[in-house]
Amino acid sequence: MKPRRTIIISNDALVTEDYEYLLTKPLMRELMAKGSWVKTLNTVYPSITYCCHASMVTGCYPEKTHLYNNEVDGFGCSDWTWERHHLQAKTLADAAKEAGGTVANVFWPVLGQDPSIDYNIPEYWSQSPEEPLTVALARMGTSQQVIDEIVKPNLYYIEGHQRQHPFCDEFVFACARDMLVKYKPDLLLVHPAGIDGMRHRYGLFNEYVTEQLDYTYYWIEKIVRALKEMGEWEQTDLILTSDHGQMNMIRCAHPNVLLSRAGLMTLDEAGKVVDKKAYVKAVGASAQVFLTDPSPEAYNAVKDLFTEAAASGLYGFERCYTAEEAQRETHLAGDFAFVLETDGYTSFGPRVTGDYYTSYDLTDYRLGRATHGYLPHRGPQPSMLCVGPSFRAGAVVERRNTVDMAPTVAKIRGWSLPDADGTVIDEILL
Ligand SMILES: [Zn+2]
Repeated sequence: MKPRRTIIISNDALVTEDYEYLLTKPLMRELMAKGSWVKTLNTVYPSITYCCHASMVTGCYPEKTHLYNNEVDGFGCSDWTWERHHLQAKTLADAAKEAGGTVANVFWPVLGQDPSIDYNIPEYWSQSPEEPLTVALARMGTSQQVIDEIVKPNLYYIEGHQRQHPFCDEFVFACARDMLVKYKPDLLLVHPAGIDGMRHRYGLFNEYVTEQLDYTYYWIEKIVRALKEMGEWEQTDLILTSDHGQMNMIRCAHPNVLLSRAGLMTLDEAGKVVDKKAYVKAVGASAQVFLTDPSPEAYNAVKDLFTEAAASGLYGFERCYTAEEAQRETHLAGDFAFVLETDGYTSFGPRVTGDYYTSYDLTDYRLGRATHGYLPHRGPQPSMLCVGPSFRAGAVVERRNTVDMAPTVAKIRGWSLPDADGTVIDEILL
């Protein structure tokens, strides 16, 4: 018997409602009939891409992964948590490697510079307009072999179009297909993000999102066709999942403005911050408040400011969690002091002065027509379809957690994830 293979494709921000359209396609109906469907998934808080994927690949909540924002901490810092060292839990890649397997990745977040991944193209971008993508990826751990054999032949899809779809996803799926054919990894992780991008730009449901669903279907078909042509389809478990939904927003709020108005952040005449007791980092439809003054006076002043603002209903957030409350109620822990949760139609931005509310800013995914980052139960939910020799045909499970995927895969493959918070979805297994 040929060895079993696991492919996990996380289509960013694909929601269960999208299946109504996807199931008009023959291959999707074939996959649904052959596989098990977990209709909705409860994701993690905040429901933002890097936290979600860190939790999906470990089976652990953010209190354990310590991955609680796309960005690293720091006022005005816009670096992302690209590298594996930001993630403090054992991953499926670690478990597969430990068991002697080979691992490949195309654009799964937070896996840059990961020694457990043999063939790695982590999600990362050129850091200046002049920097070639190959140079950027090499810095993030892509080997020369993978650059020569996988990246360069597919570079034409993405050159001049980094972070733009459908170009970027075309590159991602083409690399994934070529890795399958060339390396036959035991575990392949793939993260396309075009559906997410269209939702941020145009809103939750519209013709642009539908078109991206069409593209996504074509690309999934190419992966399945490659597996069939290789004679590997019957041995492959294919998991199509997603990380979070999105919700339409009507306005953007800038909580740092409240800090500056209250004298907890001091600006010079040019509007530059010269002193601060705290700052806010936006996480889309939630925000995290960091203290730079560790005194109890500063803590209480910031807490009172945001708690009263939340209670007033005037500032776009309905709750100010203390760090302790956030961990107790949502399994979120980090180096922040407070978390602000949206009222359901307000996203958060970085401004420190000027108007408190602004309109959309389509150059910032957090401030698009639709976004995410809010509590996991809100809005349309992510979904998971599992097809392959390990899964029941026609099983439907109404709701599980995104952290249940990793322990389920680990059980199938005999890999070890002893610290996972999630539990095995036995109902879908043969
Ligand atoms: Zn996402």
